[in-house]
Amino acid sequence: MTSQELFSLDKLRHEIARYFSIVNPIEAGVTKIEFEGPRIAIYTRNPEVFSNRDQIAKDLVTLIKKRIVIRPDESIRAPKEVLESRIKEAIKGVQALIFNELIGEVVVELTPTVKPPSDDEVKKFSAETGWVIRVEMQPPMQTKTIEKANNIIYGYPEERLQALRRIGEKVFRNQVFETKDAVITILGSGMQVGRSAILLQTNESKVLLDCGFSPGGTRNIEMIPRFDIMEDLVNELDAVVITHAHLDHMGMVPYLFKYDYRGPVYCTEPTLPLMLMQQLDFINVAGKEGVFAPYTERDVRTAIQHTVTLSYGVVTNITPDIRITFYNAGHILGSAIIHIHIGEGFHNVIYTGDFKFENSRTLDAAVYKFPRAETLIMESTYGATPVQFTREESEQLLANYIKQTIERGGKVLIPVPAVGRAQEIMLVLNHLFSTGMIPEVPVFLDGLVIEATAIHTAFPSYLGRELGGRIEELGNVFMSEYFTAVRSQQQRDDILNMEGPMIIMATSGMLEGGPILTYLREFASDDRNMLIFVSYQVEGTLGRKLLKGVREFSIIDETGKTELVNVKLEVVKVDGFSGHSSRQQLLSYLRAFKPKPRKLILVHGEPDAVTSLAKSASKVLPNTRIYTPQNLESITLESKS
Ligand SMILES: [Zn+2]
Repeated sequence: MTSQELFSLDKLRHEIARYFSIVNPIEAGVTKIEFEGPRIAIYTRNPEVFSNRDQIAKDLVTLIKKRIVIRPDESIRAPKEVLESRIKEAIKGVQALIFNELIGEVVVELTPTVKPPSDDEVKKFSAETGWVIRVEMQPPMQTKTIEKANNIIYGYPEERLQALRRIGEKVFRNQVFETKDAVITILGSGMQVGRSAILLQTNESKVLLDCGFSPGGTRNIEMIPRFDIMEDLVNELDAVVITHAHLDHMGMVPYLFKYDYRGPVYCTEPTLPLMLMQQLDFINVAGKEGVFAPYTERDVRTAIQHTVTLSYGVVTNITPDIRITFYNAGHILGSAIIHIHIGEGFHNVIYTGDFKFENSRTLDAAVYKFPRAETLIMESTYGATPVQFTREESEQLLANYIKQTIERGGKVLIPVPAVGRAQEIMLVLNHLFSTGMIPEVPVFLDGLVIEATAIHTAFPSYLGRELGGRIEELGNVFMSEYFTAVRSQQQRDDILNMEGPMIIMATSGMLEGGPILTYLREFASDDRNMLIFVSYQVEGTLGRKLLKGVREFSIIDETGKTELVNVKLEVVKVDGFSGHSSRQQLLSYLRAFKPKPRKLILVHGEPDAVTSLAKSASKVLPNTRIYTPQNLESITLESKS
């Protein structure tokens, strides 16, 4: 081990002192140095250092190669009341102020209609008051989830700071073991769609990439990733990294916390509220159906308290020998491809999670160029079935199905996963209505769709180029006049009794619970109605069964009785809207991917999809070794050189 790999607070103090004596000879006034998750917080009582903190932090990052944040010592902060009245005086449209007194930061929330102050104005104001000021626009649509997330994170600052300190101790500990080996073990998503979970181990670190469950599984051994591979996994794990907020990728995170995992969970900013929303809903739905949920709301809150968000493109050390960077995956809002840098140039792994290699109405296509990559772990969902239709053709096909149903006096049911497909289809329907491609009929949105859409409007910078530029009108872009949100059981009953054509979009996307079942039960017996699938149906789910031609299923009604439902309505699917890459797109991704990987590991596909994709991939990448692992299989990564 070289001395360079050693790192400690003492060494850091020394480096900082050296910087302030040689590079930038001013009085540093450092009062405290602390770990703050994957960052190091330096507190200063010198107002000059505080007001030049961006430049100084940048210099220090170059010097120390760790993420640094400079915070104001209490002695230079204006009293909270003074700050509050001055902010309200100087900035227009303040809706809320969230103080974090422990770190000297205040979040200023503005109404979406006002023009926010310029960066320079904020900087000046911050220098005058000795507080870090973050201005955030309130989303044009109200979201309870973001409020809840803020409450969990900011409402208990002591707990949050303690969690961040513990995380920092893991990140910045001295490296004990040399990085000589790295091993990838598939705990879930090997030859299957569902329960994504991949363990990456070096001699020094253990990191879990994704932590989901299987929507189609009925028994624990089928639902939960193979955590049983390691006796003391929760204590040995250094970090959990989540690619995106779908339950088959993050649904088991709170379960780790239930069993006392207290390390970090890394994800992008939008992933955090989307994850919170769906995990709570999962518990809620399970409760209603009398199914045992594998964790409680308390575990969900603890998990959020340990979650650290990272923006795309920010390189972050998560253990002494592992650095990660997130890139856009084009799958759903905030979805990420993870670049994992192991050791000092020892090996680089790219894990795609779910990704779409094509622009959609909501998002830009996935990133395919990386600084380094020796191993590519790629999803294979549509590896076997070429999609026959382009995006435009799919929109036309959807329009035809809807028109046909309306003309025969039927109702259209579109099951959607709350996050991703729902927003995409909303934009498509908007387009079809406004161009007259389908007649205007009421569209009802039920389940988590509205809340998920509201969260989309809160993160314009994560949306595709075309949409992100329309920040002011985002609320209207999604929630146009065509849509009605269903907010009560009464309203639902009214809709069920309504005559005439309509379109209903509701969760869950695979008919595994949620309000969609209420509508399906009611509409199933009428052959004028149509059920249109627009997303992947996992093996074992009711959605998949109906697609395969099953025309009878049982449902548990409000009184707890089992009811047999006969399916007479027409069942169709339109594949082109998927958030996953088609078979052609998976292969074009391999062609475009830079640099050429030495190893390709195919996961997240049913056996025929993985096998068929592997065969074609070997022609695209003749010099790449291709793996199609089962769950519990391991692959060893060797040094780059
Ligand atoms: Zn997904």
